[in-house]
Amino acid sequence: MTAQTLDGKAFAAHLRARIAAQVADLAPRGIVPGLAVVLVGEDPASQVYVRSKGRMTREVGMTSFEHRLPATTDQQTLLALIARLNADPAVNGILVQLPLPKGLDEAAVINAILPEKDVDGFHILNVGRLATGQKAMVPCTPLGCLMLLRDHLGSLAGRNAVVIGRSNIVGKPMAQLLLRDSATVTVAHSRTQDLAALCRQADILVAAVGRAHFVQGDWIKPGATVIDVGINRTEAGLVGDVDFAAASQIAGAITPVPGGVGPMTIACLLANTLTATARSNGLPDPE
Ligand code: NDP
Repeated sequence: MTAQTLDGKAFAAHLRARIAAQVADLAPRGIVPGLAVVLVGEDPASQVYVRSKGRMTREVGMTSFEHRLPATTDQQTLLALIARLNADPAVNGILVQLPLPKGLDEAAVINAILPEKDVDGFHILNVGRLATGQKAMVPCTPLGCLMLLRDHLGSLAGRNAVVIGRSNIVGKPMAQLLLRDSATVTVAHSRTQDLAALCRQADILVAAVGRAHFVQGDWIKPGATVIDVGINRTEAGLVGDVDFAAASQIAGAITPVPGGVGPMTIACLLANTLTATARSNGLPDPE
């Protein structure tokens, strides 16, 4: 049996079309959502992400503000820019592209963003709000994974979920979202023992490790739903954290790389920017 491929690219295109329609609905009120992206330094992967974020922001009718700063930028200069963006009413969402060059204090920069404009959901207040079940900005990559899971499975209640990876940007918020949806969640990491056996119990397996083809086919529970967050550049091109060919013989459904989680991340960034715009204008959260 071959697993169903969960087409994140198509799902994200639908989501962006819906966002574009909602952005158009705001225009008569004189509201144009604005997203500011701050890139410090010349990391090639970050440059690609920032370019496509800007393009897609404009495509849905939002305003994109791009701020490119040299790698030598000091903390004070960066914080001064964040303060300006916080105060700018045309800016509804602020994203600082990570990782920052060495010497800059990432946590201090993220926590300087107004929580209402923190469309990445990394500000400590948003992390705390998500963890305590309060209205939060939810990190884009795990939010995109959750949407794909809900779309495919319906309710996640009672399902065994294993998340491999415990980073602040993917693994931990993914675990929080699965828990919020009443899955039974296990978070694995580099010190986890007998990971293969643990994965074999997972109805939902989320891989966010950063190692090409790390998850083997025989780690998958027959019929499981597998979400591959990994983006690994290899000589054979972009590959995920899961051995797709082997896993798709056993899983019920699996996301491809590319074309799975990646496009969902940017679409969710736009969704968060729309949500931030609605909240700052006293409007209900967009559906
Ligand atoms: P990090 O490097 O921050 O975290 C990786 C996690 O994997 C860590 O928790 C680490 O454990 C764990 N890990 C490493 N080796 C092993 C191992 N042998 N066994 C079990 N666990 C292990 O990565 P990110 O969370 O930032 O990203 C993960 C992947 O997702 C990357 O490939 C990244 O490119 C991709 N990504 C994709 C996005 C998208 O839009 N599709 C967005 C963001 C990331 P420990 O904590 O113990 O070190």
